[in-house]
Amino acid sequence: MVSDSPVDGYGSAIRRRENTTGRDLSYPPLPESLTVPVYDNHTHLEIADGEHPLGYREQLDRASSVGVRGVIQVGGDVETSRWSAAAALIEPRMLAAVAIHPNEAPALAAAGTLDDALAVINELAGQPRVVAIGETGLDFFRTPEEGRAAQFRSFEAHIRIAKEHNLALQIHDRDAHEAVIETLLRVGAPERTVFHCFSGDSDMARFCAAQGWYMSFAGNVTFKNADNLRAALSAAPRNLLLVETDAPFLTPLPYRGRPNAPYLLPNTLRGMAAHLETDVSLLSAQITANTELVYGRWDAEPVTAAFAAPSGGSSTGPGDEQRATQTPRGGLA
Ligand SMILES: [Zn+2]
Repeated sequence: MVSDSPVDGYGSAIRRRENTTGRDLSYPPLPESLTVPVYDNHTHLEIADGEHPLGYREQLDRASSVGVRGVIQVGGDVETSRWSAAAALIEPRMLAAVAIHPNEAPALAAAGTLDDALAVINELAGQPRVVAIGETGLDFFRTPEEGRAAQFRSFEAHIRIAKEHNLALQIHDRDAHEAVIETLLRVGAPERTVFHCFSGDSDMARFCAAQGWYMSFAGNVTFKNADNLRAALSAAPRNLLLVETDAPFLTPLPYRGRPNAPYLLPNTLRGMAAHLETDVSLLSAQITANTELVYGRWDAEPVTAAFAAPSGGSSTGPGDEQRATQTPRGGLA
């Protein structure tokens, strides 16, 4: 289990989804491929799910085969943020977001280790291919009153880190719309601010739009009881729309409850296009342009070139040594 590298050569996940009782644990079939590719701007490939979990390389191969060109791999604590940053360095279809999740912050604060953890996030924020700070924010659903001061402190620190490094911010907002908005306005939102798994109504969508904040919709926008989310989708300007899986959670219809994966993004996108009564390819093109504006291009830095050969390839400049320590032992086969 413990090795020199946080990323093993076969792309295994480092976490397992805990709650599996009563679920159909088989992966849904591949959807029809998109004509115009899109990006999944929020996923957790470090979490294994299903009866036969897929490694992240297989996940990304499947995604590529249906027009999902790349993903933002999102960490939620020190370990998964490190994993995300390291995996993005060696995987061209992956960029990374790093953060302490709002539901992790209270326990760390109680243990006196929140500041150390934030220092690690700040350090990872300076690594190549780390393009966002997230997911961070507020969660009043899972965190009781006594944990909220720590949650606020952590959220505010993440906003500052994002601004210092000029990175996008990915927000987790669960039952905390007003407090999240108030905090962003008080501390000053980063230039590229994204509400991951947008859960507000149409009024909130209009408010976010007025601030220039992006709204990322997940598979739950397809759920039958999600009329308020679809109203928000209608209210959001197209140039602020993003799409995500939040895999392995929030699997879109008709596979709700089964393991989610980036290759199921087309189901969510098609559901959004149907609701908006627009062409799927037009919507894909718009969302792809938005995604690249927020995070940059996935292939902007050829950091994977050094790993093309199993021997580690040739040295091409500063930073290689540090990257080489993160090379999987067995190469990339
Ligand atoms: Zn997430």
